Amino acid sequence: MTAEIIVAVATAPGQSGIGVVRLSGPSLEELARKLVGRRLQARHATLADFLGATGEVIDRGIALYFPGPQSYTGEDVLELQGHGGPVVLRRVLNRCEELGARVAMPGEFTQRAYLNDKLDLAQAEAVADLIEASTVQAARSAVRSLHGEFSRRIAALLGELVDLRVLIEATLDFPEEEIDIIKEADVQRRLDLLREEVRSVLAASRQGSLLREGMHVALVGQPNVGKSSLLNRLAGEDLAIVTAIPGTTRDAIRLSVDLDGVPVHFIDTAGLRSSDDPVEKLGIARTWTVIERADVALLLMDTATGETPGDREILARLPTALPRIRVFNKIDLTRQEPAVARDAYGTQVWLSARTGEGIEGLRHALLSLVGWEGHSEDVYIARARHIEALKLARARLERTTTCGGQLELLAEELRLAQDALGVITGKFSSDELLGEIFSRFCIGK
Ligand code: GDP
Repeated sequence: MTAEIIVAVATAPGQSGIGVVRLSGPSLEELARKLVGRRLQARHATLADFLGATGEVIDRGIALYFPGPQSYTGEDVLELQGHGGPVVLRRVLNRCEELGARVAMPGEFTQRAYLNDKLDLAQAEAVADLIEASTVQAARSAVRSLHGEFSRRIAALLGELVDLRVLIEATLDFPEEEIDIIKEADVQRRLDLLREEVRSVLAASRQGSLLREGMHVALVGQPNVGKSSLLNRLAGEDLAIVTAIPGTTRDAIRLSVDLDGVPVHFIDTAGLRSSDDPVEKLGIARTWTVIERADVALLLMDTATGETPGDREILARLPTALPRIRVFNKIDLTRQEPAVARDAYGTQVWLSARTGEGIEGLRHALLSLVGWEGHSEDVYIARARHIEALKLARARLERTTTCGGQLELLAEELRLAQDALGVITGKFSSDELLGEIFSRFCIGK
């Protein structure tokens, strides 16, 4: 496939007890021998000196050699577990470059594993999703995908699609017996089952995608209505403050909390006032971009004051399609009961950030708004592109109901459904898609 040896520091930058340099290539025996001064036994932990060009010791650590194809990438893999300092790791890395390796691109190890059939595409994505998981449930569901639960369901669907196609396409050659064969093979019932299974996989994948992406909540409200108190209450009750926040939204995110396993990212809208300062303007523009992509706006108000002209002004500026939850805080002061209500403008919640009364109602309102069903135990992680593929397959299968007796059309819809699903596990994936997926990995994975 490729003759190049790749190398990368596989552990996070910074100082740590151990740092790992990893290599993969079609043949590493020679390089390993030069690096540690002897032949390494396969799959044995060997205490060794990592040697520089003149034989000086760069570090001393454990060397692990996995000859291909029984390795992560399917090629020869060498792992050097040395001390976790940036300088020493860089020296080991440079030495490997001297010996012919080149620094790996993001995700290149996993890409090679995929190209060598060690993982399918959905599993390879689950590797990245496990590393990026920001809640325990997200991590669990990523492990499930990695183990192939999602891939197996897709493979089963593909298998059934192929069976049906073979049957129908074979029948096309015997037009006079068409109807009998189709009836006998119970094609209609099998198509019904197929549609049902696609729907079920799609529903599970939507849940998995929520665990991966989380939900974005634009928190708006006048000063002193209790926004910080509410966030503290939500974060405090769940204790798990999510730290991993996907790239670009970082500076607009105020806080992320773990609600029932779903990462909920609160977008800071505090700075959304008119300003002439160019830097501030930039920040405001960025915040609006984040709000455009939010799942819900949460307007916090003081129960005693109710909705103010300032609130209405902000609400009017929010994207019209953005669902809203209006939250009336400080019910402990007005001695009201916690409550949840729905009207034409969205959901209303009455609560007290101070006492915690009514917080449960808000939690439910948020989670039900994004369709979280709370069955995190049997969810596997999924991405937007998986959902798109499943929707496409579903649409194709829906169209088979209108094909009537036209078997050519039926066969064609089934073929298109198969192509759509094949993209998930990588059977029909373009090079651009692969590039896009693996470039988002961290280096060394
Ligand atoms: P922010 O400016 O919207 O972030 O508001 P803060 O969270 O800083 O709260 C403003 C004030 O209201 C603080 O003194 C809070 O202690 C108080 N406060 C917030 N929530 C409640 C509540 O539910 N009940 C009562 N009695 N006071 C609250």
